[in-house]
Amino acid sequence: MSIYRNWIAGEWFAGNDVSENVNPSDLNDIVGEYARADPRQVEVAIEAAAEARAGWREAGIMRRFEILDRAGSEILARKDELGELLSREEGKTRVEGVGEVARAGNVFKWFAGEALRPGGELIESVRPGLSVEVTREPVGVVGLITPWNFPIAIPAWKIAGALAYGNTVVFKPADSVPASAWALTDILVRAGVPGGVFNLVMGRGSVVGETIVNHRDVAAVSFTGSQEVGQRLASQLVGRLAKVQLEMGGKNPLIVLDDAELDIAVEVAVQGAYYSTGQRCTASSRLIVTRGIHDAFVAGLTKRLERVRVGAALDPRTDIGPVAEAKQLRGNLDYVALGQQEGAQLVRGGDLLERDRPGHFMNPALFVDARNDMRIAREEIFGPVACVIQAQDYDDAVAIANDTPFGLSSGIVTTSLKHASDFKRRSAAGMVMVNTPTAGVDFHVPFGGRKSSSYGPREQGRYAAEFYTTTKTAYTAA
Ligand code: NAD
Repeated sequence: MSIYRNWIAGEWFAGNDVSENVNPSDLNDIVGEYARADPRQVEVAIEAAAEARAGWREAGIMRRFEILDRAGSEILARKDELGELLSREEGKTRVEGVGEVARAGNVFKWFAGEALRPGGELIESVRPGLSVEVTREPVGVVGLITPWNFPIAIPAWKIAGALAYGNTVVFKPADSVPASAWALTDILVRAGVPGGVFNLVMGRGSVVGETIVNHRDVAAVSFTGSQEVGQRLASQLVGRLAKVQLEMGGKNPLIVLDDAELDIAVEVAVQGAYYSTGQRCTASSRLIVTRGIHDAFVAGLTKRLERVRVGAALDPRTDIGPVAEAKQLRGNLDYVALGQQEGAQLVRGGDLLERDRPGHFMNPALFVDARNDMRIAREEIFGPVACVIQAQDYDDAVAIANDTPFGLSSGIVTTSLKHASDFKRRSAAGMVMVNTPTAGVDFHVPFGGRKSSSYGPREQGRYAAEFYTTTKTAYTAA
């Protein structure tokens, strides 16, 4: 089996340390072997990115457009094959894997267009005889650090944004899912991205990630991952006055009101809480249900979960794939035990499942009689574990929904226009869903949350320019 290498300063580099990428649907299937970069190689990548800054900026917007557009076209043309690779390495179902790859392709296409949009404005001065130009310039070398749960979509929306606005990039994917990141790099190289402008450095957060965060030539870091790591990185980056953008965890509420259509409520809950094995930062893991519909909703959801098939990611009958990593699986099972100790009632699942091949299969778990002060209702579990919290009425439900350290997404199922409109205003989350799962998000609009979920400017869409550019104000006398 060949070892996939790092892309540094326009060349493929091997490393001393090699990681094995294992298929969570079949632990005997090795997806690939990947070279971990050492600290010196990461420094070389950063130095190359620093050197490439001026050339990339001068290359002009048409060149950036062409490269990003070409990369987007290839990703879209190969979405089935890349989707299968993603399913093998992360455990998403085929539909989810192909969907994620298509999203990545569309993101490249969108940012290709964005590269062509002029970013400046001419403003009349308050002083006669002067004019003022406000232009946007690239930030410089940008470090991109990504998690394992969206191995191609999250890298895509960071890389495409950074390059479109003229920055150079040092990209570190999560150590357990390098295959999609490597495939994306290979596509970018063949699309013509110049040496040094884009660098791939695979490896551990404590080695590769730390080197990026602490290097003085890295002007900005965009991080997606856990709150614990994000907060630590932010203090290091702010300490040396670098720009930082964090997208972190969620404990997202889904409110179900008495007037909801039961079938819609159940479907929105199943998809929002359990699809992608609950491994989405936007997963609706707190189901806040008002008294009048509570029992019918719990009965409907329990019955619906009986029809959910857990299995190998690439089996066409599978609705929910395996948990991505052994560590994550252990954590999920610990939370299932904790919920019971805390006094919530486990009405379904929470146990391991055997399938044809050895894998991290887990039966989706549903708790009822949970209270919002329990740890299973406050901490991000990041797996197929959800809890139902009963609310007295709409106002009580909103108060519970907003009572969380996180603020990424929230949802409501209702037939009341009044409550839907009111909730969009009162929700303390960055993204609000009405009668649709918290999970699905578009690729051309802002993505991000509040409180402990996010920090810094938004990702995606034209708001990404706030992070990847800095303004310059120039005064000219007539
Ligand atoms: P993680 O924090 O463990 O790792 C994220 C990345 O940071 C990885 O590449 C990791 O190697 C790197 N890293 C770890 N320690 C580091 C260090 N000391 N210095 C620099 N880099 C370091 O997160 P994870 O387990 O990969 O991902 C799951 C988390 O990501 C969940 O909390 C989930 O909610 C969050 N997430 C958030 C969003 C969002 O947009 N809000 C999207 C997806 C996932």
